[in-house]
Amino acid sequence: MMKVCKFGGSSLSDAERIGAVCDIVASDSDRRIVVVSAPGKRHKTDRKITDMLIQCAELTLAGESAGAPLKAILERFATMQKNLNLPAEALDEVELDLKTRLAGDTSHKARYLDALKAAGEDNCARLVTKVLNQRGLDARYLNPKDAGLLLSDEYGNAQLLPESYDNLAVLREAKGITVFPGFFGYTRDGGIVTFPRGGSDITGSILAAAVKADVYENFTDVDSVCAIDPDLAPEVQPIPHLTYREMRELSYAGFGVLHDEAIIPAVQAGIPICIKNTQSPDAPGTMITLSREDVTGHPVGIAYTVGFMSILICKYLMNREIGFGRKVLQIIEEEGLPFEHMPSGIDTISVIVRESDVDSATERKIVERLKDELGVADCIIERGLALIMVAGEGMVHRVGTAAIATRALADVGVNIEMLDQGASEISIMFGVKGSDAKKAVRSLYKAFFGDVAS
Ligand code: ASP
Repeated sequence: MMKVCKFGGSSLSDAERIGAVCDIVASDSDRRIVVVSAPGKRHKTDRKITDMLIQCAELTLAGESAGAPLKAILERFATMQKNLNLPAEALDEVELDLKTRLAGDTSHKARYLDALKAAGEDNCARLVTKVLNQRGLDARYLNPKDAGLLLSDEYGNAQLLPESYDNLAVLREAKGITVFPGFFGYTRDGGIVTFPRGGSDITGSILAAAVKADVYENFTDVDSVCAIDPDLAPEVQPIPHLTYREMRELSYAGFGVLHDEAIIPAVQAGIPICIKNTQSPDAPGTMITLSREDVTGHPVGIAYTVGFMSILICKYLMNREIGFGRKVLQIIEEEGLPFEHMPSGIDTISVIVRESDVDSATERKIVERLKDELGVADCIIERGLALIMVAGEGMVHRVGTAAIATRALADVGVNIEMLDQGASEISIMFGVKGSDAKKAVRSLYKAFFGDVAS
């Protein structure tokens, strides 16, 4: 039996929690690969080490001193080193590493930023290894470069290069415990490059797939995945079992427990994912697998995420115009926008994109081009949209699901700006005004799962 386990930033935010992580690793000899995030927030108003590192990089790139955030980072590591009873050299190593990164080549800004961002995970992995060794365990830190974790050179948004799987497969035979920093890898030319934020989950999933682990345990700070964001209602139903497809839909639409891109490597290799709580490691957590037996056609979860905009394109008889959709998407592509969804009517198509990708100049240009090049009669932009995903295997085939959902939204006066039950058979997606999203989710939860105390 072999387990790959990943610990999130909130599980590694101080010495005590790092100690608890090491207890969990030590308690099960199957936990042979340990992936760590950077230390996260110790409390609500605290800062993540990764955010502080980004600030260091940005200040340096702006020609200013990074002294203040650097000092704050070193103080965090110093407290950990002291409370973990590690020798002073452990802190010297962190300081030297951070200063070396800060003094690096700034000519390629995104590359410089990624080198700094990766320092949180890298130093945390070295620290965790030292604590495991201190306890007499045979653990070793492994740098992603030495392991052959190769990524594309999309800085801050890297993707795995497939040859990495062969390089990483040998870790199955590695002796003892391998401690691996999450979130970053290397480009073919040897530069540090990071996944999107929250990307340590992706590293864990890739390693689990590469070594053909029996399970990928993802330790975080909740007992299980819940049917809606637990901040929205006090007593939210835990979900014991999800399919990969359900989790992917829900992660995409805002369930922050697991990065949505972390699901693919595990799916492709058929590795079950188990979401667990560092503070109650023996609780069963949420299992995520290819299928589940208890499919009822009832939704399992309702997620929402804000920050979308729709470009509504109206043209009479567009259905008869061969290539119209392609030409719309070509304009979107040429303006450098990834598109998220494209629900369509007879004479209308909406293209849903992320607001943060479209500044006002790009918005104007797209509208102009759609009108000039495609003869579009009307083009209406709506910003500030939220997407709500109601997901569950088999749900869409159950008579009345959409009716229950639309009634729940009408009951609280939420207007549906967009509805998509398109290609995915396991979810219905609603576009609503961002300001309506929370009350919409509460009402949907009440309709599908029973009452919700407000
Ligand atoms: N430390 C990185 C972040 O804050 C990656 C991670 O935690 O997974 O985004």
